[in-house]
Amino acid sequence: MTNRVILIGHPVGHSISPNFQQAAYDHKSLDLTYQSQDINPLDLHAFLETMRSSNILGANVTVPHKENVVPLIDELDEDARLIGAVNTIANRNGRLVGYNTDAPGFLRSLIEVAGFDPVNKSALIIGAGGAAKAVAFALSKHGASTIYVANRTHKKAWNLIRALEPLGTFARAMSLEDNELKQISKQSPIIINATTMGLYGGPEPDRSPLHHTDISPNSLVVDLVYNPAQTPLLREASISGASILGGLPMLVYQGAVCFNILTGLEAPIEVMYSAAQSAMSKRNLEPYT
Ligand code: NAP
Repeated sequence: MTNRVILIGHPVGHSISPNFQQAAYDHKSLDLTYQSQDINPLDLHAFLETMRSSNILGANVTVPHKENVVPLIDELDEDARLIGAVNTIANRNGRLVGYNTDAPGFLRSLIEVAGFDPVNKSALIIGAGGAAKAVAFALSKHGASTIYVANRTHKKAWNLIRALEPLGTFARAMSLEDNELKQISKQSPIIINATTMGLYGGPEPDRSPLHHTDISPNSLVVDLVYNPAQTPLLREASISGASILGGLPMLVYQGAVCFNILTGLEAPIEVMYSAAQSAMSKRNLEPYT
């Protein structure tokens, strides 16, 4: 029977992971099928139990299950344990092992696509959800000197910087209304939007978290949002003359790490990237479900 990898989420219809993962399996001639399955939070435990004795080689995990799967699986790799969220589960003969590939995916996109090395640099992260946490850990582990976390809900920014304490990086939490935010933004070598602001079909698709006057032309501005490719923040950054990086490279690189974990093979990055771009161009006019 053909082995399967399942993307679980609620909903899952918007994801382009099936497009680029299947393209990679086909390119490597693997007898493997990638499918999406909408799993209601109430059915998550049952799904994972079924997975143990099935032909499901692994799962990708998306919103809202990334944190909820943690207590339900058997083992976590170091990044997943520190971040407290899992986006890849490998089924090792019935034993479920959780990984977080968002952190290495973000870092690889930063270094290999934008040519940015975070060592000894300060960073401003806007947002304090799961993606912000993965980015903060990646930057912290890779030698960033200071991490500022600005979030609508100040308490969540505070919780994030507390979670970073064991890594020893200097970090500070602030709210989006903090008077100092603009000053810090203007001086940041790298600014990352890890909120849903600007996301097509999200709650505030037209809003940028920063105005171009608050962005230095010497900064790299990264938007984790990949739909649309040109977000309101990236437009503001371009006006200021800053360098920009969209969210698609991170999505593909985190998928490449996942491919490697589940198949043991090197991921065909170019094939995956081209399938992701082609899926995006077909979907740009469709709202998220
Ligand atoms: P999440 O855990 O739900 O966090 C959402 C974040 O957005 C929180 O910080 C939230 O602030 C903030 N937010 C939501 N609505 C807002 C508003 N109206 N004004 C200001 N802030 C608002 O989601 P996530 O998984 O971290 O994802 C965050 C973003 O990253 C999404 O756009 C997602 O598409 C993107 N992402 C991209 C990749 C990639 O590979 N490119 C991977 C993961 C995620 P509060 O705490 O105040 O609610």
